Amino acid sequence: MMIYFNNPPFVGTELEYIRQAVENQKICGDGPFTKKCSQWLEETAGTAKALLTTSCTHATEMAALLLNIQPGDEVIMPAYTFVSTADAFVLRGAKVIFVDIRPDTMNIDETQIEDAVTERTKAVVPVHYAGVSCEMDKIMEIAEKHHLKVVEDAAQGILSTYKGKMLGTIGDFGCYSFHETKNFSMGEGGALLIKDGRYIEQAEIIREKGTNRSKFFRGQIDKYTWVDAGSSYLPSDLNAAYLWAQLEQADRIFKDRMKSWGLYYELLSELEKEGILSLPVVPEHCTHNAHMFYVKAKSLEERTRLIEYLKQKGILAVFHYIPLHTAPAGRKFGAFHGEDIYTTRESERLLRLPMYYGLEEEKIVYITEKIKEFYGI
Ligand SMILES: *Cc1c(COP(=O)(O)O)cnc(C)c1O
Repeated sequence: MMIYFNNPPFVGTELEYIRQAVENQKICGDGPFTKKCSQWLEETAGTAKALLTTSCTHATEMAALLLNIQPGDEVIMPAYTFVSTADAFVLRGAKVIFVDIRPDTMNIDETQIEDAVTERTKAVVPVHYAGVSCEMDKIMEIAEKHHLKVVEDAAQGILSTYKGKMLGTIGDFGCYSFHETKNFSMGEGGALLIKDGRYIEQAEIIREKGTNRSKFFRGQIDKYTWVDAGSSYLPSDLNAAYLWAQLEQADRIFKDRMKSWGLYYELLSELEKEGILSLPVVPEHCTHNAHMFYVKAKSLEERTRLIEYLKQKGILAVFHYIPLHTAPAGRKFGAFHGEDIYTTRESERLLRLPMYYGLEEEKIVYITEKIKEFYGI
């Protein structure tokens, strides 16, 4: 038996919808399925606008363009994140300022942000790790005080909440991912959520190669033209058809993942009580979406042995981000502000267990048994 770390989500109606997209003879961007997905996102998340994009990376690039990030501007983010969070701003010439994370949620330490602000700082990019929210009240307060914009990297955070608000809708911009490893997928894809309606027109222009084609399609103008600098960030309706099948069944996918997460937690809590492993922490004012189930071993050495042990038992468990400030590009384009107390230490302990839609209960039982066996329990 082999238990994979991830299996792309598939609910069964995807192929029918892709067939419909083909029959519609509308396989380019902004077709009927793209509209259904954007509308669903706007209604479910509760935001002024959701634009489907070719990836979360591209949604973040759009946010950087909308904020007019210039060479020399500074952007604050955690070092414990995926490269895209930084890349989107580095492409505009920004300098990335990394700050430490909190050891409980693995999210940016909100108490370290203000000290990293300079007169060049333009934005803060909180990353909601494992779909668990950063401390958004504090982050928004700092942003307001220093006139900074907030771009939420909510790649993992769809359907999670902070004090009742959906992640991705609290900052000025929110970025979702529909990569095959995320809760809902279209292979490669994402969405940009826009809170302030004043950015919508410019966002549509950037996404449509710098043209006002979106306005043209809505019949608001009779000819479309090149009006600004832009790119092509709209996904094919074929991909949107795949995503629509999943959004339609979002509740089923959500509940299934939450059940798996809950079972992992229950079966491993004994190890946490005995001080052998640490389990994920979800603050009381947050709800999560079971994007990920991780455990933290005592050390890098212990984690390496546990990964190897599980692999021998047919279980593919994996570690996660290498802190960006230690990577060659991180050193070139960024700097760590303050002391790295938790980022490296906690990232070396963390191990992600298999988690996907449809993961069978027996497999979770088997995985947790093997972990207990490793620790001699
Ligand atoms: C997956 C992920 C991304 C990138 O998403 P893509 O859709 O692959 O571009 C960015 N940030 C975080 C935190 C992610 O988990």
